[in-house]
Amino acid sequence: MIELNHLDAGAEWALTADAADPLGSFRNEFHIPQQEGRDIAYFCGNSLGLQPRAVRQAVIDELDYWAELAVEGHFRGRLPWMDYHEFVRDDLASIVGAKPIEVVAMNSLSVNLHLLMVSFYQPTAERPAILIEKSAFPSDRYAVEAQVRFHGYDPADALIELEPDQADGTLSDAAILDAIGQHGSRVALVLLPGVQYLTGQALDLPAITQAAHARGCMVGFDLAHAVGNIDLNLHDAGCDFAVWCSYKYLNSGPGAVGGAFVHERHAHTTRPRFAGWWGHEKATRFAMGPEFKPTPGADGWQLSNPPILALAPLRISLEVFKRAGFAALRDKSRALTGYLEWLIGQRLADVLDVVTPKEPSRRGCQLSLRVKGPRDSGRSLFEHLQGDGIVVDWREPDVIRAAPTPLYSRFVDCRRLVESVAQWHSSRK
Ligand SMILES: *Cc1c(COP(=O)(O)O)cnc(C)c1O
Repeated sequence: MIELNHLDAGAEWALTADAADPLGSFRNEFHIPQQEGRDIAYFCGNSLGLQPRAVRQAVIDELDYWAELAVEGHFRGRLPWMDYHEFVRDDLASIVGAKPIEVVAMNSLSVNLHLLMVSFYQPTAERPAILIEKSAFPSDRYAVEAQVRFHGYDPADALIELEPDQADGTLSDAAILDAIGQHGSRVALVLLPGVQYLTGQALDLPAITQAAHARGCMVGFDLAHAVGNIDLNLHDAGCDFAVWCSYKYLNSGPGAVGGAFVHERHAHTTRPRFAGWWGHEKATRFAMGPEFKPTPGADGWQLSNPPILALAPLRISLEVFKRAGFAALRDKSRALTGYLEWLIGQRLADVLDVVTPKEPSRRGCQLSLRVKGPRDSGRSLFEHLQGDGIVVDWREPDVIRAAPTPLYSRFVDCRRLVESVAQWHSSRK
């Protein structure tokens, strides 16, 4: 693997590191957008992953089955549509560290969050609250408020918000555990991210779960920025449920089919849920009886027959992850992000602050960067990078996120980003 002991800021080092990268060839499996005849440097895999080349044919195959087989496509073809969501299950389980019965590909993140809160947020007068972070992603915030109101409670009372306690806007582990300890007896559900979208901070999921369960709370995680990015061991972490989307690090295309985890201990739960026919026990689904009998495990939360054209890219993408091997990807990810951080320290210490925690165990591949100086400088830098063929993203109020994802990013791309920032900085003097 790539050695980070003998770093140097020259172009030669980056080229040599890329040449030595055992995963280097995976880049060829992706479409890299072009700008002025040159590959762009793509740091936005945290927002929309690039397209695996094999996706196009996989979607065309399903269109062909539809054209040729019509309704028979449910039972024939290489991958009959009837069972299609099952063809991604094992790979999905592997990438989140779950048992196959604990995961399902369905819907989208916010929808799954609602569906699982229906089951795992059961407020009572003594225990009405949801504990979330103050800077939660807006959709999560809207969803929990809506659930609180739906049950007849007031968010002013029943939402407990965790404020970042660190100067850089991150949360210390102690602050999270303290809040659970302090408010736990009133909390029905703790809902936190795996990786915080703005700061890139990875939370300690097992520790949070343990603390929350000790206080009698349910625990759910939003893994939008964690899945396909960091090591997840959801089964062992023991959380009650988790939800994610697949268009970010999982490279499954805009609006891709999301996913959900429900811990095995709830596989046969009698908790309330919003039911649909695809969640019904498979063996008797087509008996078309009036009584809902859920299929055990995460599959039991499905409502509808899945969108095959949208599941095909997820199947292909998970297959790419499997071939690369997640452990190897994570090694490369640590090296790339470590190198980018080191280069920023060497070349841009007076230009950028890195918001994301330094410890590799407390982050994934994303670095959140804040330009020193007024907010306008941040926007100006963001626009300069765009013009220079470097795609990062801007998050209000003042953060630039750069995620060198390991499947298709290179060390030379990280260096190109840093050199471009340095050029912008010197042009403003
Ligand atoms: C990206 C993201 C979402 C997006 O939700 P969708 O339902 O997929 O549109 C939700 N929550 C978080 C934390 C995210 O990062």
